[in-house]
Amino acid sequence: KFSKLEAEALDPIIATMARYAADPNPNKMDVSIGVYKAADGSSFMFPSVKMAKEIYNKVEPGHNYTTMSGLPEFIPVAQQTVFGDKIAGEGKLATIQTISGTGSLHMAMLILRSAGYTNFAVGTPAWSNYIPMAQHIGCTTSTYKYYDEETKTIDFESVVCAIEEASPKTVFILQTCCHNPTGADLSKNQWKTIRDLTINKDCMVLFDIAYQGFASGDKDEDAWPIRYFYEAGMEFVVCQSFSKNLGLYGERAGALHVVVQDKDSLPIVHSNMVKNFREECSFGPAYGARIVSTVGSTPEIKKVWDQDVAGVAERMVTMRRRILDTLTKLETPGKWDHVIRQTGLFWFSGLTKEQTERMISEYHIYLTQNGRVNVAGLNDANLDQFCKALDAVVRS
Ligand code: PMP
Repeated sequence: KFSKLEAEALDPIIATMARYAADPNPNKMDVSIGVYKAADGSSFMFPSVKMAKEIYNKVEPGHNYTTMSGLPEFIPVAQQTVFGDKIAGEGKLATIQTISGTGSLHMAMLILRSAGYTNFAVGTPAWSNYIPMAQHIGCTTSTYKYYDEETKTIDFESVVCAIEEASPKTVFILQTCCHNPTGADLSKNQWKTIRDLTINKDCMVLFDIAYQGFASGDKDEDAWPIRYFYEAGMEFVVCQSFSKNLGLYGERAGALHVVVQDKDSLPIVHSNMVKNFREECSFGPAYGARIVSTVGSTPEIKKVWDQDVAGVAERMVTMRRRILDTLTKLETPGKWDHVIRQTGLFWFSGLTKEQTERMISEYHIYLTQNGRVNVAGLNDANLDQFCKALDAVVRS
């Protein structure tokens, strides 16, 4: 009965991780998947999360169902984190808890499809799941060039052209900060241009905010583009993840926010979002949402969270600077300053597929096949080893 099915390929990043796990070399290094690691190389538990867990353990909230739009106390915290207190209080947000950022994107695509937005425009390269996810629910996709390999910056002319020429009802998936995989973020001026171009056009902007705070070290500053679009009275959607900025990867804590300007439409939009979630998941998971809501609603823990996020951003900046200094000292052929121009966890190194493969097979350094390096995988103990290997594969 099942013999008609054909095997599906492993996601490339899972294949890389499996290869890493099977490598017996004691000096192997993982700079592939986008998980933040501390300066000592260990997986990082945010001190704010630790504090929230202590409260959680004392309260013991039990295991009852949440609601179909999620844990009630989680919703305002999610809204305030992205939009700030003022906007969150204005009653224009339809929000549901989702299965982290991926679940939020899926729920966003469903509600957009219901509203008639059935084509998803993706700037390349991008997070590899956007296109399969849109196609999975029968939507169409189109691509345009986001990043220029030559200049190692955004090809903004191409972005503008894609918006100007977009067919009606196109959704532009735009990452708010710490672009995955390129680390190349739109500037404020570029966001202004995008807002001008989209404000009167029959298209939609979907903000994917999966690394809020990791670019500037300030969560409010990183959410600037979203608040700036809101100020113009636009309708758009925001897919929010707490996987990275609270280190809650496996807990699947996230939210979908739809900005609805017409107060009468808001409960209708929300009811559709709840229905979609009900039909696929019934109830949002409680544990991660409880941690998020405790962090966000306990002033002294919230302050610690601000410091945690600032610390992550600072460490990334320091590591990037050290990579550049080390490659400069080694006189590695080529230009490498993009490592300090790019933000967040990822450095889109520009290593070719062959060079990347040599990093893995000869030097036991596991980056993703497109040459993306998770800077958080680097620290004082392994940075020289990484730079020397990169130097060697570039030279020969
Ligand atoms: N968007 C982007 C840009 C991402 O990098 C990721 C995770 N790598 C996600 C969304 C989804 O993350 P999660 O489902 O873990 O929240």
